[in-house]
Amino acid sequence: MSLDLDERQRAMLAEMGVRLFEAPPMGRTDGTSPEPPRRAGGWAAPAAGNGRGEALSRAGGGVGSVSAPVPALVPVVPAPVMPTGGPGLVDTMDWETLEQTVAACRACGLCEGRRNTVFGVGDRRADWLVVGEAPGEQEDLQGEPFVGPAGQLLDNMLRGIGLARGQGVYIANVLKCRPPGNRNPEPAEVAQCEPYLRRQVALLQPRIILAMGRFAVQSLLGTTEPIGKLRGRAHQYQGVPVVVTFHPAYLLRNLPEKAKAWADLCLALEVMGG
Ligand code: SF4
Repeated sequence: MSLDLDERQRAMLAEMGVRLFEAPPMGRTDGTSPEPPRRAGGWAAPAAGNGRGEALSRAGGGVGSVSAPVPALVPVVPAPVMPTGGPGLVDTMDWETLEQTVAACRACGLCEGRRNTVFGVGDRRADWLVVGEAPGEQEDLQGEPFVGPAGQLLDNMLRGIGLARGQGVYIANVLKCRPPGNRNPEPAEVAQCEPYLRRQVALLQPRIILAMGRFAVQSLLGTTEPIGKLRGRAHQYQGVPVVVTFHPAYLLRNLPEKAKAWADLCLALEVMGG
């Protein structure tokens, strides 16, 4: 695929560290996953000031591997409490009601430690939806997804394809509350929170979803396949095309992978017909 890039896009790519002629072919299916596993031996240096990046930096083994002791985090998950009477009602909510419902939600144990819910941010008539995984420390403090260095890289990536935070794109996470210590979300927590994202998708009606990071990708697509096997083609969530790519926090620690992220953005543009 070839793209006509203007000077601004080329400048953004340069800022991302992407050299255009180094982009590898899309459709990689070699089974490898450069995405760092979330639980395994050793703690890599975390990305400064980056919430989920801190969690993603706990690298070591492959998918599903647990080769080192993991701190015993046993969240107390209370009986589900949907504040507005049941998950079915979420499907009928407008934006304001949905946001208020999330702010008051105590449907899973993550409500206990949060300082803010992180509902999402951006243009509510956008064609693009970016989905990350869960708030980190700064996101929890500020109530906004993708802040800090990873958020800045995301903003640069978006500018590279003619978008800006708040203009043409909406940004949300799978989970609206921060897991304590940035641990992996539990399946039950994802199940409790998923109706909110599903309703956001229904209200937004995006033309494409860009799923960032292994956890977001696997949660949206309901798979345990690594990103390396899922990149290079469009998937579906609620009838909307999904293109998967790496989390910006991961890209900050793995600069050569930026070229692959740029290829993923190009695929998304292609799916959009742009
Ligand atoms: S993570 Fe989601 S389901 Fe759990 S308390 Fe927060 S908003 Fe509710």
